[in-house]
Amino acid sequence: MRRPIIAGNWKLNKTIVEAVDLANKLKAATLKLDDRTAVVCPPFTALSAVADALRDSDIAVGGQDIFWEDSGAFTGEISGPMLKSAGCTYVIIGHSERRQLFGETNDTVNKKLLAALKNCLFPIVCVGETLEERKTNQTFEVIKSQVNNSLANLTNEQLALTVIAYEPVWAIGTGLTATPAQAEEVHAFIRTLLCKEVAEGMRILYGGSVKPDNVKELMGQKDIDGALVGGASLKAPDFISLINY
Ligand code: PEP
Repeated sequence: MRRPIIAGNWKLNKTIVEAVDLANKLKAATLKLDDRTAVVCPPFTALSAVADALRDSDIAVGGQDIFWEDSGAFTGEISGPMLKSAGCTYVIIGHSERRQLFGETNDTVNKKLLAALKNCLFPIVCVGETLEERKTNQTFEVIKSQVNNSLANLTNEQLALTVIAYEPVWAIGTGLTATPAQAEEVHAFIRTLLCKEVAEGMRILYGGSVKPDNVKELMGQKDIDGALVGGASLKAPDFISLINY
């Protein structure tokens, strides 16, 4: 019922030439995209070139961040209209690296989310607890605060277009994956926090060391509707097998 999404976050990796090369390899592969969506999120500099390379494919392109204003004196920022003009249909918002390293808060995430929706971009909003928070039994409290505050002030229609990624910080880039049961527990909890009218239709992705050898079991969980993938999205064979899980 919920169409799964496999999204690759390329982070601060790949020059334009390298990014186009990876995009071309994905485009040339046989991908099962009739019942699922694949998205790649290259760095800003490669967005346009990757979108051009993927033009006649069913692979969508997303940005890794967005600023809440459309234009103005905001040096270094990238806006919704700019992402759209570069060929994006998705955008990642509030990734834990942005929250931890660049001072992103639930409040800024919320502003960015509203900007994405205003600009007709599908937002992928990231939430997740740190290892310390998990160890001290704060996981559900932290997730509740992140979901409620990051997704504040949305109409049900806007909420229905929003994708959430649950990414336990301790599992990102560490090789440690939440067990399918641990992930499912939080995904099911997140769904209870969402407005009843739209919750059942909303996609909640899991992220944190998703690899070809663990994707199937994760995707077998009732409330896991896809994956947000870092490391394993940088190599064509791995990302192809993740899409075709
Ligand atoms: C991510 O960056 O969102 C991520 C989940 O990274 P990795 O797959 O490398 O853990």
